[in-house]
Amino acid sequence: MPEALYPDIDTYRRSVFAPEDDLLRDLMPKAQEKGVPRISVNAESGKALHLLARAIGAKKILEFGALAGYSGIWLARALPKDGRFITLEVNPTHAAVTRANYQAAGLGDIAEVWEGKASELLPKAAAEAPFDLVFIDADKESYPTYLEFALQHVRPGGLIIADNADAHGRAHEVLEPDDSAKGIQTYNERVADNPRLCSTILPIGGWLAVSLVLPED
Ligand code: SAH
Ligand code: MG
Repeated sequence: MPEALYPDIDTYRRSVFAPEDDLLRDLMPKAQEKGVPRISVNAESGKALHLLARAIGAKKILEFGALAGYSGIWLARALPKDGRFITLEVNPTHAAVTRANYQAAGLGDIAEVWEGKASELLPKAAAEAPFDLVFIDADKESYPTYLEFALQHVRPGGLIIADNADAHGRAHEVLEPDDSAKGIQTYNERVADNPRLCSTILPIGGWLAVSLVLPED
C-alpha cells in the first residue's frame, strides 16, 4: 500500500478544497436534532456556490429553500458588508432554525428569511430585483416557475443556479408529468436551450445546474 495523507481520494478533495468551519460542520447535525432533514447541499457544492457568487461580485442574492441555512451561509459569506441575502422558506421550523443560524454566523444584518410559499412571495421578491444570483433549491415541481422568475429578475452577467439537477439520478428517465423530478428535467432542458443563457452542470453533490445570464446583445 502506498502511503496516504488522507483516508481516501474523496476525503482528500473535500478536505483541501471545501473545508468547513465549526459552525458549518455542526450545522446540519444540530438541525437534525430539531427535526430538520439532512438534505442540504454538501460542502463542495457550498464552496462552489460561494466561489460563483464572488466571481460575479454578487451583492444581492435570492434563494428558494432555506432548510437550516447551510447553503445560505456559504452564499451570504460571499457578499460584501452592504450585501443582501434573502431566502424563501415555507416550513416554520426550518425558517426559525435558519434565522438562528444566520445570527450565529454573524450574518443577521445581511441575511433574512421570508417565511411562506415561494410562489406567494414572488411579487414581494420582484420588488427587490434585480438580483445578481438566484439559487433554486425548494420544491422540485416548481423549478420551471422559479426559472421564469429568475429570467425576469437576474441582471445580465448574473447567475441562475439550481441544486439537485440530477433529480436523484432520475433526470434521464421517462417521467410522468406529476412526478416532481419532471420539474427538474423540464428546468434542465429550458436552461440548456435558452439562447439568453450559457448553462452547464457541475456534477458535485446532487449536481448544480449553473446558468450565466448573457448580455442583451
Ligand atoms: N438550500 C438548502 C436546502 C433546501 S431543502 C441547503 O442546501 O442548505 C428544500 C427546502 O425548501 C426545505 O426547507 C423546504 O421546507 C423548502 N420548501 C419546499 N417547498 C417550498 C415552497 N413551496 N416554498 C418555499 N420553500 C419550500
Ligand atoms: Mg438541494
